[in-house]
Amino acid sequence: MVIDSHCHLDDDAFAPDRDAVIARAQAAGVVGIVVPSYREHCFARLRACCDGVSALPLWPAYGLHPCYSGEHTREHLSALQRWLATPGVVAVGEIGLDRHSEALRHPDLWRWQQDVLAAQLQLAQAHDLPVILHARSAYAELIALLRRHPPGAGIVHAFNGRIEHAYALLDLGLVLGIGGVVTQPSAVRLRDILRRLPAQSWVVESDAPDMLPHPVYRAGQRRNEPAFLAYTIAALAQTLDRSTDWVAGQAEQTTRRVLRLPLMGGGE
Ligand SMILES: [Zn+2]
Repeated sequence: MVIDSHCHLDDDAFAPDRDAVIARAQAAGVVGIVVPSYREHCFARLRACCDGVSALPLWPAYGLHPCYSGEHTREHLSALQRWLATPGVVAVGEIGLDRHSEALRHPDLWRWQQDVLAAQLQLAQAHDLPVILHARSAYAELIALLRRHPPGAGIVHAFNGRIEHAYALLDLGLVLGIGGVVTQPSAVRLRDILRRLPAQSWVVESDAPDMLPHPVYRAGQRRNEPAFLAYTIAALAQTLDRSTDWVAGQAEQTTRRVLRLPLMGGGE
């Protein structure tokens, strides 16, 4: 049994067969899915997805994703504040910093990215919610900003930084989200970091429809889904020399602790 701590199940990629995707997740041992958002105009779609009839509990998180910084406005931050007050919200996310593209590094947009993140960290504090963070080419900058606006708890999703980043993030009370990257033969650094961290410091995630585990990608799949978490769990089990049941159970416990989810699966 495991929780998918990060899946964009509301994405249009799942529109044709969302129920079948959820059924396959359940058959693969997934007991709940956290669904973070990325843009204001998707909040209603995300709520509808999480409130719909589903074989599994779907927990919504609302936030403004750094990759869409050019779209976000002050009004969107006000809207976010209203959405965070609705029932069943488990986190503020997906929020963070991204310096991957030249456009995102443009000084004006970079400043705005940081302002939007700082505002959302303050919202998380005001609503007493954990955060789901995204960082790409920006771990040092993220850590500096988190030190100014410390979140109570949260997940740094798709972690792929260095060991000193991992320690700094854990010191801030966060845990690391481990996804399909750990299955890649080249992910030597990440696997080495995981061997050096306590078992309570990570959770697992699909980040579906993106971030396909390596074996599934090689088999020709192009859309990720929560059922493929089994590959990520298997890679973690091999890395840590533990059973897959142990990895899944450990990840589930940590996700429930960080996001304050009910202890047993099956409804909120
Ligand atoms: Zn994501």
